Amino acid sequence: MTLSSSGTVWNFAAGPSRLPDAVLARAGDVLFRRGADGAAVIERPFTGNAVRAVLESARERLTQLLDIPANYHVLFLAGGAMHQFSAVPMNLIDPASGLRTAAYADSGYWSRRAMREAARFAEVSVVARHDGSQALAAPAEDNWRLPQGCAYCHITANETVDGLAYPAWPNTGDVPLVADTTSSFLSAPLDIARFGLVYASAQKNIGPSGMTVVIVREDLLRRPAQSAPSPLCYRLQAEQDGCLNTPPVMAIHLAALVFQWIAESGGLSAMAEANRRKAELLYRAIDGSDGFYTAPVIAAHRSITNVRFHLADVSLTERFLSDAEKAGLIHLRGHRHVGGLRASLYNAMPLAGVTALVNFMAEFKRCKG
Ligand code: PMP
Repeated sequence: MTLSSSGTVWNFAAGPSRLPDAVLARAGDVLFRRGADGAAVIERPFTGNAVRAVLESARERLTQLLDIPANYHVLFLAGGAMHQFSAVPMNLIDPASGLRTAAYADSGYWSRRAMREAARFAEVSVVARHDGSQALAAPAEDNWRLPQGCAYCHITANETVDGLAYPAWPNTGDVPLVADTTSSFLSAPLDIARFGLVYASAQKNIGPSGMTVVIVREDLLRRPAQSAPSPLCYRLQAEQDGCLNTPPVMAIHLAALVFQWIAESGGLSAMAEANRRKAELLYRAIDGSDGFYTAPVIAAHRSITNVRFHLADVSLTERFLSDAEKAGLIHLRGHRHVGGLRASLYNAMPLAGVTALVNFMAEFKRCKG
């Protein structure tokens, strides 16, 4: 079969993933060049004005992009989303006030990992899960029966491994809704006021790994968080502007450049529109392949950032992956727990990358179908 020879390589990794070209082009200059005082940004003390200015600009830009209400704190914390799997229960459970139980919706791989971790710190109650009787979907958002003494209700907004997303947010009444938005953060506007707490690790749509954004509503900082180690205690970090310990300056600086790039590219509505077009193109190619390719998630719950699909003849999977790589289409292997194929279409993936992928898929089908 004839493979593309344009020389362009398109990286479909689930994360760490492709960063915007414009950000990579500027990053070295901004981060590593020494200023008049003889220090580059990453060499400066985090207590000094230069690093504080970086933090402030990242916070301001993110606040503008998401239109974050004034009663929320934005923290850029060291570590990944999995640190938050423990930090969330440690901060939000409050047994002395009767808030002992943590409600979790089971939507797939990452929500199960989050609840397994939470079970070390709280009584976990699974309030919703997909019933398994039909094609893959997120749990239906209505009729969740939250337990007595419920400290919070946790969802995984976009399941990176399973390739599914919530089409609408559940209504949890007075119980704070907490969302792991790692793989959908900044892919579209997000109504922060619907949530008590939102977190996302950086290595998808924010920047390089090593940093996690936590957006937490002020009233939740009043919970005692007695078991939380200081760097994972939201109240202590909020009191010190996220600088209780050394913040991941390089990751935050790159995140600020990404936030700027998003704003200059039209903001989150423009991201959402571009992401919708990319996902539509790919799902259309899958659905229109007469069953040669199949997507396991029902249409209304399909992720626009992590498109999961299979070859009907699974014996062709390895050949597909190696031919794709030769054509410059890399990291299309599905997660080891579910197999198959996955194309991650974060903000920095242009439509041209997805077009190259669907053209390759059509050609592969023509040769092997
Ligand atoms: N939650 C989701 C939805 C994820 O996709 C990931 C990473 N792929 C994690 C949590 C874990 O993030 P980290 O590796 O940053 O701890």
